[in-house]
Amino acid sequence: MINKELLRMVVGFRRFRERFFAEENSVYTRLASSGQSPKTLMIACSDSRVDPAILFSTSPGDIFVVRNVANLVPPFESSIGFHGVSAAIEFAVVNLQVENIVVLGHRQCGGIRSLFQPENIKAGGFVAQWMTIADEAKKAVLATAKTQDVDTLCRECERASIVISLKNLRSFPFIETAIRDRNLQLLGVYFDLEDGHLSAYDNASDSFQDIQVT
Ligand SMILES: [Zn+2]
Repeated sequence: MINKELLRMVVGFRRFRERFFAEENSVYTRLASSGQSPKTLMIACSDSRVDPAILFSTSPGDIFVVRNVANLVPPFESSIGFHGVSAAIEFAVVNLQVENIVVLGHRQCGGIRSLFQPENIKAGGFVAQWMTIADEAKKAVLATAKTQDVDTLCRECERASIVISLKNLRSFPFIETAIRDRNLQLLGVYFDLEDGHLSAYDNASDSFQDIQVT
């Protein structure tokens, strides 16, 4: 008997194929012959509610995506190891020569919540270790917090951690070079999945500003 989830995937795949393979000069005919040349690298959370392709209505070939717990960018490390996120960033910047890097954060991020409620995750496990990248954001939020309300602290930390990731991006030598030589843009964007709003980090005011979409 066929797995129910696989069956659902096959139905979805049929719809996808009708949309992108039906015409003679389809998107995939072009992408298969010329390869991919996305303009943007998107670093997003693994959360099932924040798929960048769905959020931004992109087509195949439009964005190169790295997804991980809490959309974090680790600082540059030269030690030998399995640096999966750094490898994807390197490929996008050095090989694909993307013009923008977007760090996309979101409301109700479980990874960020684990910083404030560590009892919800395995102590000393992969998630806890990974989330130490955002420790600096948590400390900054707590230092200026006017409330102890966890929801509010999480919301602020979800945004603050985007700023840490933008800072960490600049620690990669090939990113510094790309900023200098070809004006690579680094952008921080936050999606509030509770009210459907999008905001962007503004360097000058060091704050997130709502993006008007209508
Ligand atoms: Zn998340």
